[in-house]
This record gives sequence, structure tokens and C-alpha cells, in this order.
Amino acid sequence: MTPETNNSGIGTAARCDLCEAPITDEHVFCTHVRDSSYLHPHDRHLDGDRPLTACSAEHLNELIKKVGARPFANEELWAGKMARVLAAHSQSLSLYALAMETGLTQDQIAQAAFWAGRAEPSQPASESLPGPASTGPEQV
Ligand SMILES: [Zn+2]
Repeated sequence: MTPETNNSGIGTAARCDLCEAPITDEHVFCTHVRDSSYLHPHDRHLDGDRPLTACSAEHLNELIKKVGARPFANEELWAGKMARVLAAHSQSLSLYALAMETGLTQDQIAQAAFWAGRAEPSQPASESLPGPASTGPEQV
């Protein structure tokens, strides 16, 4: 692993999501796949729409198979949206406030809470794929 130089926060050299090989603009293979474990880092409307970047068509196909093997569950996506909003607040939110901030209906929130309460711990695709949403806690 070599540290990347990144002065702007944007424009980090792209790497293959599978083998982490650096990718040039001329040889990039990319697509988006539905993944209920994916939360977009900046735009909640893109949650569940995981971008995949690969160095070759073969690696892109492997990534699509890997992510596609996970079932898409709306409740998982909604639970992720709720967790993100709740993590941003130090105090509890009303159901109304949670609905406003997540963009979910109160019924969706109830379904997500029920899903989260009975979901077995499973490895989200985000833990096996590098990406914008897989940033770890910052070390001081
Ligand atoms: Zn690759």
C-alpha cells in the first residue's frame, strides 16, 4: 500500500474495486449496480446505487456478480439511511424529524426498524468492496 497524494479531496486516482490496480481514463470500466447496503457519501438520492470501477471487463463482471449475489432489501437501505441520520445527531429525533431527514415515510421507518431488529448480522457488500462509503473512523 502506498499513500495517495490528494490535495483537493477530489480527483483521487481511480483504482479497480477488485484488484486495486490504478486505472487511467482511457481504460476504465464502470457501471452502477443496485446494492441495498450502499449509502452514497454525499447524495441520499443515490443510496442503493453502488458505482463499480474496474481495470478490465473481466474484473467488472466479477464485481457485478459479487454485488449481485446479495439480495436487494429496501428495508436494509432504509435502515442504513436511518442509521446515517441518527449518527449525525447526538440526541434522539422524533419520528417526524427522522422521516424529514431520511426522506422516508413513517411506514418505511417502521419496516426498517423491524428489519434491523430481526436481521442476522451479515457482511454488507460495502465491507468487501473499497469505495466512497467505506471510510473507517478517523484516527487522531
Ligand atoms: Zn482489476
